[in-house]
Amino acid sequence: MKRWAVYALLGYGLFALAIYYYLYGLASGGLPEIYKGTSADPSVFLSGAEQALAQKYSTIKNFLFFISVPFEWLVYLFILVFGLSRKFEEWSKGTVRFSFGQTAIYLFYLSFLTFLLAFPLQYISYHYSRVYKISAQTFPQWMKNELIDFWVSYVIMIVLVFVLYALMKRFKKKWWLAAWTLFVPFTIFMMYVQPVVIDPLYNDFYPLKDKKLEAKILTLADQANIPADHVYEVNKSQETNALNAYVTGIGENARIVLWDTTLNKLDDDEVLFVMAHEMAHYVKKHIYIGIGSYLVLAFFGFWLAAKWMEKLVRKHGEELQIQELSQLRSLPLLLLVLSMMVFASSPFSNAISRFEEKQADAYAIEMTQNKEAAISAFQKLAREGLSEVKPPWLVKIFRYSHPAMAERIYTIETYPLPDKQGKKIEENRGVSAQKNRN
Ligand SMILES: [Zn+2]
Repeated sequence: MKRWAVYALLGYGLFALAIYYYLYGLASGGLPEIYKGTSADPSVFLSGAEQALAQKYSTIKNFLFFISVPFEWLVYLFILVFGLSRKFEEWSKGTVRFSFGQTAIYLFYLSFLTFLLAFPLQYISYHYSRVYKISAQTFPQWMKNELIDFWVSYVIMIVLVFVLYALMKRFKKKWWLAAWTLFVPFTIFMMYVQPVVIDPLYNDFYPLKDKKLEAKILTLADQANIPADHVYEVNKSQETNALNAYVTGIGENARIVLWDTTLNKLDDDEVLFVMAHEMAHYVKKHIYIGIGSYLVLAFFGFWLAAKWMEKLVRKHGEELQIQELSQLRSLPLLLLVLSMMVFASSPFSNAISRFEEKQADAYAIEMTQNKEAAISAFQKLAREGLSEVKPPWLVKIFRYSHPAMAERIYTIETYPLPDKQGKKIEENRGVSAQKNRN
């Protein structure tokens, strides 16, 4: 057991060094030739100081991301091999007799410990966002959100874990299938209530305040056949200086949300481009495609997790202090296995997402026909969010659900729209053709 812990720590240290070397040495290359001098070239729209700041900030964030993920795995492993999970289970059984109560108590110990252990890295991440003026949150505001996160996931976890372990006891072999069958309606339900139950715990959502702009947006929404009451503004400016907009929810609760920072810092034409991009997600039903592929992936994920865990418990049950999978104490093993699988599949899900984002950009530029507004919107997004215009390869495949800014701007700039002169020629031809017919 001690040997495991030492190897894991050693492996983690080596990984952290390797990723540090990659991010700060190997991958800190310049901009590819094709972007140089185009609107995608950061030296065209950022000052030298802004470029340096964006570079520094993104590299810190990337490094924190890559060390946080395996840190979580290390925490779960240590909780198992040092017998903490077994102790939590014993304590919970010593406190109450009914199993729902035991699950709630066990989970409280586990969630609280993992929250405490993850806290330093979380705080460091917040600290840098604050130093680089991306986050506008005071410490109490930030802490309040951390605590909401904690309680929301704690309550959801009690229900999920209680049902899951009941299924494990009931169906010795096929519990993963039973679990997945219940997971489907649960996921759909969560997607439905997310915008009206979960999101308002953090922020206020309301119709757009700028009525002139709202009228323009609703005209655009009308073109895309989106009902007017599905467009919302959210007060994010007290929290962050970054700009964003997104599509969320399903059915009646489906909505497009614009951060007020986006409305404050972009001019109307730029907002309309961003809005057209979000409408594309709405119209092309990317949320439903997302839920569908997530559930298909979860099917194989549940199966693989079950097989993998059964094997681990059979072979290393003693070191992990688990005799049977259906013991509550095996939960950190499940969380470890799931977290590893989610990480391993993230390049795949990010690639799908980047593809949809490209589609949405194309839809938006076709709809608005305004390249200047699109390009300046992206440039402002990059500046305000201190985002990397061209991230290193590993960062792109593991972190980027959107194409890199250089790519997005370049695609818009070279997008084959009929330019104004081209259009005139087309129109003249149309006229002359009609004349001929006459
Ligand atoms: Zn998008």
